[in-house]
Amino acid sequence: MISLKSIFARIDEYREEVINLQSELTARVALGPANGGTGEHEKTNHIKAVLDEMNPDTLEIIQAPDSRVPDGYRPNLIAKWGKDLGGPAVWVLSHSDIVPPGDLTLWEGDPYTVRVDGDRIVGRGVEDNQHGFVSSWLALKGILESGIPLFRPVGLAVVADEETGSEFGLHYLLKHRKGLFREQDLIVVPDAGNEEGTMIEIAEKSMLWLQFTIIGKQCHASTPKKGKNSLVGAAKLILALQELDNLFSYPDDLFSPPESTFSPTKMEPNVPNINTIPGKAVFSLDCRILPRYQTGEVLSACREMADKIGSELDLKIELETVQRQEAPAPTPIDSPVILALKRAIKVVTGRDAEPMGIGGGTVAAFFRKYGLPAVVWSTCADTAHQPNESCFIPDILTDAKVFAALYLDDDKRG
Ligand SMILES: [Zn+2]
Repeated sequence: MISLKSIFARIDEYREEVINLQSELTARVALGPANGGTGEHEKTNHIKAVLDEMNPDTLEIIQAPDSRVPDGYRPNLIAKWGKDLGGPAVWVLSHSDIVPPGDLTLWEGDPYTVRVDGDRIVGRGVEDNQHGFVSSWLALKGILESGIPLFRPVGLAVVADEETGSEFGLHYLLKHRKGLFREQDLIVVPDAGNEEGTMIEIAEKSMLWLQFTIIGKQCHASTPKKGKNSLVGAAKLILALQELDNLFSYPDDLFSPPESTFSPTKMEPNVPNINTIPGKAVFSLDCRILPRYQTGEVLSACREMADKIGSELDLKIELETVQRQEAPAPTPIDSPVILALKRAIKVVTGRDAEPMGIGGGTVAAFFRKYGLPAVVWSTCADTAHQPNESCFIPDILTDAKVFAALYLDDDKRG
C-alpha cells in the first residue's frame, strides 16, 4: 500500500507528459483506408519509440497485410514487461486509429492540433482512444520510475482498424497470434466508460442493421392515384416496426438501457421537388438486441411486417441486412479481471464499480468470441467521434493510478 502511494504521487506530477504525448499522437493522423486515410503507421511508430525507452522485454509491430495502404500492412503494436515472471498477465489494449473529424466548421480549431483549456484537452483522438493508451503507459512509467518491481507480466497492445471492423487489428492478432492473449490473463480495453469510472462493461447486445427499400410508382403529385407513394409505405412501416418493442420486450438489468432497442435512423433523399410522388423510399433500422433473443427472430418479424404493409399498399418492400453481429457470451461476473479491477478502482477513488452490459460494438467482443474474458473500462465523459472531442487530464491521471494498482494487484496479498 505504501508503494502504491508513492507511485500515485508520482503519477500526479505527469500533467506535462499527458499534454506532450497527446499532442504528438494527435498530430500523427491515423485514419484507416475505409475512412480515406493511409493507416496508423506514423502514430504507431511514435508509440513504439516512446515504449522503447521503458525497456520492454518484447516490443514488436505485427503486420496485418492490407493492400489498400501505401505500406501494404496495418501495424499492431505489442509490448510486454516481466515476461519471465509467469502467471496471468495484465493486458491493456488501446487502438491507434481515429475517425475523421467530420464537418470542420463545427470544430473550434484544427482537429489535429491539440488545444489545452484548463484541464481539458481538445483534438481528434484525445479521448478515443489516446486517453486509454496514455493512462496505461503512465501507470507503467510511474511504477518503473519508482523502482518498484513488477511481479506479474504487464502487456500493452495498440491495435489498428478498431473504427472500421478490426479485421486488420485485434481480429488479426487473435487469428494469427494464438497464445498471445491467454484465458487466465486480465484484459482491459479502456475504450468506453462513465464519468465516475464505475462502469465495467462485460456484455454487449447483438447488433442488427437493416435497410428497407420501398418501391412504388413515381407520378405527378396532382394525380396521386396514377402512382404508388413509397413515402407513405415507409412511414407506415416505420410505425409498424415499433411493435418490435413489444415482441422483444424482456429486459435485462445488467444492460444500460435494459431493453432491446429498435431505432429507425437513416432516411435516404427521394425526389428533389415537392410536386412528384416518390416511387422509391429507403430507410434504415438500427437494432440492439439482448443476447436472450436471436437476431434471426428479429429479422423474421421485420420481414413479416414489411410483407404485410407491402401487400396492404401494393408496394414492393425489400429488406437488406447491412450488419449482423450476434453478441458473444458475456465475460463471467466472477472473472479475475473484474475482481482485480474493482479492487484497483476502490483503492484509487473509493468507489464501487459494477459490471454492466451496453448497446455494443466495442472491440472487446472479439476477445469474448475467442473465449477471453475481457472488460471495457475507463473514466470519461463520452465525447468520442464528436467535433471538439476532448478528455480531462485528471481522468487520465486517475485511470493511470487504477492501472498501476491493477498491474501491482495481488489477490493473495488481500
Ligand atoms: Zn475507440
